[in-house]
Amino acid sequence: MDRDQINEHLRFAAELGVDGVSRDPAWRSRAEDRMTIGSEPDPNLIATRSEPAPIPVSIAKNAAEALAAVRADIGDCTRCKLHRLGRTQIVFGVGNPNADLMFVGEAPGGDEDIKGIPFVGRAGQLLTDIIEKGLKMSRSDVYIANVIKCRPPQNRNPEPDEVDTCEPFLFRQIEIIKPKVIVALGKFGAQTLLRTLDPISRLRGRVFEFRGAKLIPTFHPAYLLRNPASKREVWEDMKLVKRLLQADSGSGSGS
Ligand code: URA
Repeated sequence: MDRDQINEHLRFAAELGVDGVSRDPAWRSRAEDRMTIGSEPDPNLIATRSEPAPIPVSIAKNAAEALAAVRADIGDCTRCKLHRLGRTQIVFGVGNPNADLMFVGEAPGGDEDIKGIPFVGRAGQLLTDIIEKGLKMSRSDVYIANVIKCRPPQNRNPEPDEVDTCEPFLFRQIEIIKPKVIVALGKFGAQTLLRTLDPISRLRGRVFEFRGAKLIPTFHPAYLLRNPASKREVWEDMKLVKRLLQADSGSGSGS
């Protein structure tokens, strides 16, 4: 390069906002190569690459590992206000990572918050009876999770911002487990999954398609504790669940 070319080059650099150059050999390497983990970027360095660094992805060997990765991603979550409203711990989900049948409830209650396991209180005992006495399956064969992973204060209904923040984790659980049938327990689970405001009384008794699964809305076990007469309808819904599982049993893997 002759003198004129160097001048032209520096003028062009100045137009781009470069206000100086250095003879230090360190400047011959790229800015991002010189950053070390934990160090603050040097504000004097010129960023030479605009696309974001690739995000490392871990490839899970199986559904259990993939679920563990989702749980790790949630961490000690502070993404919504529930983390400072008295929750003890996150209640992620429990059961067979390859389950054909998945139950989706609303949010942990007091017992679940203490134990870190969904549906372990009175409503949980009724759900266990529905699974074991009604469906003649073991609780450990199915997967149980909630839309919301933290207990709302005084068991109030989850609020829209809490649902928006938390539901992607439920969707990831469903994506990994790939159940054949999902039972949405109560208005809240059903309305969240189906993106509808229809009351549970209109939703139950019907079969919906949801991300490759059949979705059956039914009454929440806590509602059944207050309205035992509705157990009859839930029994009808469970017979439908059984039929759907059996109809599909020749065609896939699972529990
Ligand atoms: N009710 C729910 O919706 N989920 C639980 O885990 C317990 C009670």
